[in-house]
Amino acid sequence: MLKACRSGIQRRGAAKIIARDPDYARLNGQDLQFFEGIVGKDRVLTENLETYNSDWSKWYTGASQCVLQPSTSEEVSAILRHCHDRRIAVVPQAGNTGLVGASIPVHDEVVLSVRKMDKHFEFDDHTGVLSCDAGHILEELENKLAKWNYMMPFDLGAKGSCLIGGNLATCAGGIRLLRYGSLHAHVLGLTVVCPDSKGSILELGSGLRKDNTSLHSHHLFLGSEGQLGVITGVKMTCVTRPLSVQSAMIGANTFDDCRKILRIAKQKLGEILSSFEMMDRETMGVLKDNLEFENVLRSDPPFNLLIETSGSNEAHDREKVDSFLEHCLSQGLAMDGVQAQSHEEARLMWRLRESATIALTMDGQVFKHDVSLPLDHFYRLTEEVQKRVGNVAKRVVTYGHMGDGNSHLNLTSTKEKAEELYQVLYPFVYEWVVKHGGSISAEHGIGQLKRPYANFGKPPRERELVKALKAVFDPRSILNPYKFI
Ligand code: FAD
Repeated sequence: MLKACRSGIQRRGAAKIIARDPDYARLNGQDLQFFEGIVGKDRVLTENLETYNSDWSKWYTGASQCVLQPSTSEEVSAILRHCHDRRIAVVPQAGNTGLVGASIPVHDEVVLSVRKMDKHFEFDDHTGVLSCDAGHILEELENKLAKWNYMMPFDLGAKGSCLIGGNLATCAGGIRLLRYGSLHAHVLGLTVVCPDSKGSILELGSGLRKDNTSLHSHHLFLGSEGQLGVITGVKMTCVTRPLSVQSAMIGANTFDDCRKILRIAKQKLGEILSSFEMMDRETMGVLKDNLEFENVLRSDPPFNLLIETSGSNEAHDREKVDSFLEHCLSQGLAMDGVQAQSHEEARLMWRLRESATIALTMDGQVFKHDVSLPLDHFYRLTEEVQKRVGNVAKRVVTYGHMGDGNSHLNLTSTKEKAEELYQVLYPFVYEWVVKHGGSISAEHGIGQLKRPYANFGKPPRERELVKALKAVFDPRSILNPYKFI
């Protein structure tokens, strides 16, 4: 059944590939009436649903005929109880910025949008603990926290559109992970609604930094991609806003030099290092061609490193970054290096990194990857793929969170060559990654995009346990079907 997923063209319409499970009920007028009674008529959408049925990269299109916009956990509970009883399939959706087609229905699943769940917001500036609903936009949370000189412990290019509920369900990574760790380090408790006969509202974990009184069950929902329950609220730690943020770019000739520079950055900037990003020369090429953005580094190096520090003493941090750059240049590891002298200069550096995703989409067909690899193999994957695809691809572009071992290898092609490129790439890329000790998804998840490869490198017993857990929370398997579990 999944064989046809290997076609890049057909993949856009996964509905054509994975047959609709006939056991799921089709919505009828009584269901709609029931939903209207729960959330109100204006929160049951049945027209103009394109934005809910289509993902950010326009790869996937669903056929949902109903979007529900509850605003409380109790409303979510009543909806899920009804959907459980009637066996109606449901897809939770937040900002719909996911890059693997996880937030999009495959067939006619009801979309349960958490956008309207944005009332509750509470912050304790003594403990740094935030308690809020799942529907807040990440950037708005960031802005609200500024009042107390705090910020969210993670940051992404999609921050203006993604919602905290979606971030939790994908266990989003982003550019601060090197410094503050993953969401697992910050989430203290979740409110989750289960699609069971009671529509159970569970308070998992607590708002406490230390609490070893039970299984840390809330962690199961981080990265669960909407397949276990609907996250409606969170309690998590935030971090103090740094008083001094420095950015610098370094040009390197080889990837091996990049690795050595990372090691030196960890030693010399250890306590203030907050990001270590890499963009290869081809990334700069697509930024220039499609957005007319110039590289900050004049030497047009094969590898561009973007480094950020977050500390509390401007003079001290600037001096440290300066001496780090000098060291890399004097050791012959860096061929070019520049430290931002102003906020505007730093913004120009970060604009390059944050615009790479958008610049690529302007090329036409994009084959995106989000893999973790040991640094020994990080750029070898790109080299192997370059050799393999020859001139079938228009571009082979790599950037990513190198400090976390997370590579975003992207290939673009014309529409005509897309199918050929797809056949050359898959399953080769994912087999190569697993064979070299990597993960086929570092932060974006599995969704529809990687479903055929979801079992790669996973022991069968682990898969069985995941399925057993799914059955505990979602006994009739109605939540986000046709995806990774
Ligand atoms: P959605 O896309 O709506 O949903 C994502 C998944 O979560 C789906 O499976 C959905 O069913 C489920 N879900 C949503 N809400 C809930 C809920 N309340 N309860 C249960 N399940 C739910 N990702 C990174 O990790 N790091 C990056 O640096 C990064 N950069 C990006 C840059 C750009 C320009 C873009 C477009 C995307 C980027 N992403 C990145 C991917 C995306 O932004 C993240 O995956 C984000 O966390 C998704 O949040 P969302 O609110 O859009 O969720």
